[in-house]
Amino acid sequence: KSALYVVATPIGNLNDISLRAIQILGHVDVIAAEHVQNSMHLLSHHGITVKNTQLIALHQHNEKNAADKIITFLTAGKSVALLSDAGTPAISDPGALLVQRVLEHNFTVIPIPGPNAAVCALSAAGIANPHFLFYGFLPAKSGLRRRALTELAAFPYTLIFYEAPHRIVECLADMVVIFGPQRKLVIARELTKLFETIHTCTLEEATIWIDADSHHQKGEFVLLVHGTQIEKKSRISEQTQNTLNVLLNELP
Ligand code: SAM
Repeated sequence: KSALYVVATPIGNLNDISLRAIQILGHVDVIAAEHVQNSMHLLSHHGITVKNTQLIALHQHNEKNAADKIITFLTAGKSVALLSDAGTPAISDPGALLVQRVLEHNFTVIPIPGPNAAVCALSAAGIANPHFLFYGFLPAKSGLRRRALTELAAFPYTLIFYEAPHRIVECLADMVVIFGPQRKLVIARELTKLFETIHTCTLEEATIWIDADSHHQKGEFVLLVHGTQIEKKSRISEQTQNTLNVLLNELP
């Protein structure tokens, strides 16, 4: 039956894939992958043969054309799985445009959940705040990055960013300027991989930590910055609160 399956794949450890994902990848007619070669590595690791599967590339530079192709496959009654290089497609990765087009054409979209670097990092960060804002990648240029950070500075939610290794030092430096040196963060690096590091510190300490060892600057990063602390002072006096309680008890 024609449907688009949006399949989450590992963010490092190849065994982090669901049984359902393996099952579906073994049965679909078409697999659309960000880099076919990378996905082939994953498929062969799990013994998934693609003899009868058509493989096509869908990446940020051809998403529109690839989406047209996929609509044609779906119209012909074929099933299609979408994979990105790592984690959940359409999350800081191509896929959102394709999903939009597929829904517009009234075909079914079925998510196959699994790894996502942001959620993986948050689950092990030890941040008790139940609210978070996923930002993804900040702008590459410092001026725009500082402007984006300024817009986020007053949020009381954990702020989750993705960052590339070649920008991590300057990104942390801008965060110190905009959020202040004492704001706490968790640096989650190389999750599920050999050099997995989950490090809690202040922004000021982070700039020292990252400079202390060149290995600290390598790999893939999620930065989880604590939200601003909101003072939980009650704005009404104790006496007013008591009066309100009496009145509330009188209500039917
Ligand atoms: N779609 C992916 C997801 O669901 O998380 C995100 C893809 S995005 C192009 C790649 C970025 O995600 C990296 O630059 C890094 O910030 C983060 N990331 C991916 N894998 C990671 C890992 N194993 N450890 C830490 N961060 C990771």
